[in-house]
Amino acid sequence: MEAARVMVKLMADFDVERIRRDFPALAQKVRGHGLVYLDNAATTQKPKPVIDTLVEFYTTHNANIHRGVHALSERSTQAYEEARKKIQRFINAESHEEIVFVRGTTEGINLVAHSFGRPRIHKGDEIVVSAMEHHSNIVPWQILRDETGANLKVIPVSDEGELDLAAYERLLTERTRLVSVVYVSNSIGTVNPMSLIIQKAHARGIPVLVDGAQAVSHLMVDVQALDCDFFAFSGHKLFGPTGVGVLYAKKAHLAAMPPYQGGGDMISSVTFEKTRYNTLPYKFEAGTPHISGGIGLGSAVDYLERAGMEKIAAYESELLDYATEALGRVEDLRIIGTSRHKASIVSFVLGDIHAHDVGTILDRYGVAVRTGHHCTMPLMERFGVAATVRASFAFYNTRRDVDSLVEALNQVRKVFR
Ligand code: PMP
Repeated sequence: MEAARVMVKLMADFDVERIRRDFPALAQKVRGHGLVYLDNAATTQKPKPVIDTLVEFYTTHNANIHRGVHALSERSTQAYEEARKKIQRFINAESHEEIVFVRGTTEGINLVAHSFGRPRIHKGDEIVVSAMEHHSNIVPWQILRDETGANLKVIPVSDEGELDLAAYERLLTERTRLVSVVYVSNSIGTVNPMSLIIQKAHARGIPVLVDGAQAVSHLMVDVQALDCDFFAFSGHKLFGPTGVGVLYAKKAHLAAMPPYQGGGDMISSVTFEKTRYNTLPYKFEAGTPHISGGIGLGSAVDYLERAGMEKIAAYESELLDYATEALGRVEDLRIIGTSRHKASIVSFVLGDIHAHDVGTILDRYGVAVRTGHHCTMPLMERFGVAATVRASFAFYNTRRDVDSLVEALNQVRKVFR
C-alpha cells in the first residue's frame, strides 16, 4: 500500500510535457507527422542543456587538457575532471580513480578483455556470458578464447526471456575466471537479477563485469551496492554525446592491470629504456580523449539528477505496462520477452510480416523503431526469429506515443491483408 502511494506521488511529480520541451529533436515533424521516437535503446535524444554545454565548450573553453598552463587548458581540464566526478557520484563509485573514460560500452568491454582477461585467462579456463548478450559482450571474449584456448560458457534463457539461474550456478566451476553479463537486455528489455548473479560468482571468488549499456538510463545504478568488479556504459544511450562512455572498475583491478593502449597522457615519464605509467585512471586514457564528450556526459548526468532517476524509473514502469497492454491488443502481434522484470523496451513480431517491412511502414507515420537482430543474433536464434521490431521508450515518451505506434501498426496490418 505504502509502495503504491510512493509510486503515485513519484508519478504526480513527473511533468513529461515540460521534459519534452527540453528535447528539441522531439518537436519536429517527420513525413508530415509529429515524430514518435521509439528507438532509445539504439541512441537517445539530447536535452538542451547538453547541447548548450557542447556549444559553450567549443565557443569559449576549447583546449587540450591536462598539460596546458594557459587559462583555456585549465578550464577544459577542470570541466573534464568535474564531469568524471559527476559520473562517479551518479553510479556511486568510491573514487574518481575508478572512472575510466572510453569510447563506449564496446571499448570498455574490450579494455577488460585485453588488460584484465589476457594476463589471467589461460587454456582450459572459462568465461561465462549469457544467451542474451549484445555482440559487444560476446565477440571480445571469443577473440580472447581463440587466443588463449579458454572456453566460453553460456547461461541459457527461458521462453519468457529470463536467465536460468540454476543453470548459471552449475556453470560456475573452479576454472571460471570471469562472468560477463548484461544488466538490461537491449533486445527484449529483461532486467537481470544482477546482485544475485554477482553474489553467486563472488562466493566462488569470480569477478563480474556488468554490461550496463541499457541499465543506466532506466534504473538507479549503485556500483558499490552491486559490488560489481566492472561496469561499462555508453554516453549516447544516457542522453549524452556519442563517442564517449565509461568503464567503472574497482581500483584494485585497475591498479593490477596493464595499460590497454600506449601513448600520451597515460605515462608519467618515458625514456627509451623504461616508461612509467600514469596514476589511475589516466593509465587507461592514452591520447587526447573526447573532451567535449566527457563534459557533455557530465551535463547529461546533471540533467538526469534534476529530473530524478527514481521518478524516471516509476514513470517508465507505468508506460511499459501501458505499452505492453496496448500492443497485446494488436491482432497477430507477439511480444518476445515477457520477463517479470523489464525495462521499457518491447520487442515483437507482427504475424509473418517481415520486421523491416513493419519498420519501414511505421516510418511513413513518423514512428521511429528499430528492426533486425539488435546485435543479439544468438538471442534471436533462441526465440526462433530472424528479426523483431523493437520499441524502446525513454522518460520523454508518452502514452500518446504508444497510441501512435498502435495506430500505425494497424495500418501496417491493412497493407498486408
Ligand atoms: N551492450 C548493450 C546491451 C547495448 O545495448 C549496446 C548498444 N546497443 C552495447 C552493448 C554497445 O554499445 P556501444 O555501441 O555504444 O558501444
